[in-house]
Amino acid sequence: MTKSILVTGITGRTGRLVFQQLRQRPEQFESFGLARSKAKAKDCFGNIDGCYFGDIADPASLTEAMAGRDAVIIVTSAVPRLKAPPQPGQRPEFDFPPGEMPEQIDYIGQKNQIDAAVQAGVKHIVLMGSMGGTQVDHPLNRLGNGQILIWKRQAEQYLIDSGIDYTLVRAGGLSDQPGGLRELVVGKHDALQILNDQGRPVAIPRADVATVLIQALQAPGSRNKAFDLMAKAGDDPTAVITTDFAALFAQTTPGL
Ligand code: NAP
Repeated sequence: MTKSILVTGITGRTGRLVFQQLRQRPEQFESFGLARSKAKAKDCFGNIDGCYFGDIADPASLTEAMAGRDAVIIVTSAVPRLKAPPQPGQRPEFDFPPGEMPEQIDYIGQKNQIDAAVQAGVKHIVLMGSMGGTQVDHPLNRLGNGQILIWKRQAEQYLIDSGIDYTLVRAGGLSDQPGGLRELVVGKHDALQILNDQGRPVAIPRADVATVLIQALQAPGSRNKAFDLMAKAGDDPTAVITTDFAALFAQTTPGL
């Protein structure tokens, strides 16, 4: 039987890959998406079939999209914007648009989606988050003075406390490289190595994160788990490309 899935944040860089990958599997999934801009959705997908439009800050705008879904994949996030091009030698400065601070989007917006899903009788929420949430003084928290990782972490706790089945996927630094070519590794409490042997940050392709979010809908061992997710570098000679997602989820554990 096909499962009815809603993906939110489908015009985002990861969300669009999740929606595209899901739509390639119509025998398993009936796919729906939520975006806030019709024009951007049309631009991303060429059409707006299966799309609902709403703002996660406005709970009433989520009801229709949630109705009748078996599971929801949440890929929304506050999006920092560059204040002005940096002067030579200066660091770039970021802020968030008015009304779109991380507290409003990454906490209240996620909470609104979780509440709407519970209300609609959804059975499972897969939430994409970010590594770094255990580090209060992480540089990302200073970005636009938004404390973004702290608010994301609070939303994760809210999801766990909601009683709905959850899968929390906290990715490391993201890249737009092709997916399916790396060994994926899971961990907890920000313990995964984020620098390679040369001291450079290792990134995980958004396409690989999208695959894990979708695998979490079906693979055994994915429910009521929270984990950090990284990839070994593409040229790591020890890497074995991940294809067995049940084995990956078997290494993950419940609770924040
Ligand atoms: P992204 O491109 O920033 O997309 C965010 C999405 O959220 C966009 O579709 C945006 O809509 C949507 N959104 C924001 N406010 C909304 C609102 N009020 N109502 C409805 N939708 C709203 O995301 P990404 O870069 O793929 O990242 C995905 C997740 O991974 C985020 O949680 C991010 O923090 C996390 N992460 C990022 C990194 C990294 O290296 N960048 C590392 C680890 C984890 P619009 O398209 O209309 O703006």
